[in-house]
Amino acid sequence: MPSPSPLGLYVHVPFCASICGYCNFNRGLFDPALKAAYVEAVRLEIRRAGDGAAADTIYFGGGTPSLLEPTEIGAIIQECRAAFEVAPGAEITLEANPETVSRASLLAFREQGVNRISFGVQSFRDEELQRLGRAHSAERARRAFADARAAGFDNLSLDLMLWLPGQTRAHLEESLDGLLALGPEHASVYLLELYPNAPLRDTMARAGWSQAPDDDAADMYLMAMERLEEGGLEQYEISNLAAPGRRCRHNMKYWTDGEWAGFGPGAHSTRHRVRWNNVCGTSEYTRRVEAGEPIVAACRPLGTREALEEALFMGLRLSEGVPYEEIGARYGVDVWTTYSERLAPAIDAGLLIRQAGRLRLTRPGMLMANEVMAAFLRTDSTVE
Ligand code: SF4
Repeated sequence: MPSPSPLGLYVHVPFCASICGYCNFNRGLFDPALKAAYVEAVRLEIRRAGDGAAADTIYFGGGTPSLLEPTEIGAIIQECRAAFEVAPGAEITLEANPETVSRASLLAFREQGVNRISFGVQSFRDEELQRLGRAHSAERARRAFADARAAGFDNLSLDLMLWLPGQTRAHLEESLDGLLALGPEHASVYLLELYPNAPLRDTMARAGWSQAPDDDAADMYLMAMERLEEGGLEQYEISNLAAPGRRCRHNMKYWTDGEWAGFGPGAHSTRHRVRWNNVCGTSEYTRRVEAGEPIVAACRPLGTREALEEALFMGLRLSEGVPYEEIGARYGVDVWTTYSERLAPAIDAGLLIRQAGRLRLTRPGMLMANEVMAAFLRTDSTVE
């Protein structure tokens, strides 16, 4: 059994002021009455789940968590502290959209205990922001960032998206320069992936916008990583870069075989080798919590093989690679003997490196991460 390490606490806030045309997250339009009921429900859920376990991160994700009042965020943090043994120096992150915050609200979030803000910026070009259906401009994002600094935040992250409709390399460079000019401690860079019925697909078809060919998207990704590293951030995961000592401690739990407890509609949890998730609908979630009915939609134990394979392929997302020997020892499995045959093609192709007890993707390997990681799935080995 893995030794228990401090939990990460995740709180899902399922409200947005408007819905972006590419978004496939669990969210709905902001509704003040439902929001008030949700806050009470999530507090109650945390209170009921509390078992005094050690935790060292709290992450408000969404949705748009910055749509909650600072006092509501503060009340949820207090609930976490009462229900779990939250470390004094815990990382407490709030995802925020630039147009939802002011210097005063950021100051208030900080006073309530938030010490890290992750801004969804996505682009520093207004034309791209409009195409995505974002409610803010590049200038508004810059102002939100400056307000966060003025409010005293010294741990800020910015999200960018690449492979946007009509985006060229020069456009992307503009956004990368815009990000670096602000000097955040952390950046996340994602390729825009359009799910089959995304409204943005129709908009793109009507307007004649298209995404660059796949090869160009790969070039854009490589260029983004190189440029951001030249700017002083270090890539530590397929989509994430950070200044020294500023990796997202919460998200690291997902990549290092950690444990987390999720609260709110659709939130996932993994503890003691059991995985479960809550019902997704906010009204249904709120109703069930109020009525004292079960809110878990699905729950299953993770077998040794599944837990091991997940630890391996999630760990492979890290730039430093996955310590496969250490993980194998934890699960009582000789990883190299079990998987070497399946991993050999990726190593031969220069996508994967085996060194000093670790397996590590090269940058080209990161572009084909899913294919490489498949070596750890559906193995017919005898590990049970
Ligand atoms: S703000 Fe984020 S969660 Fe909300 S609709 Fe847009 S992409 Fe989705």
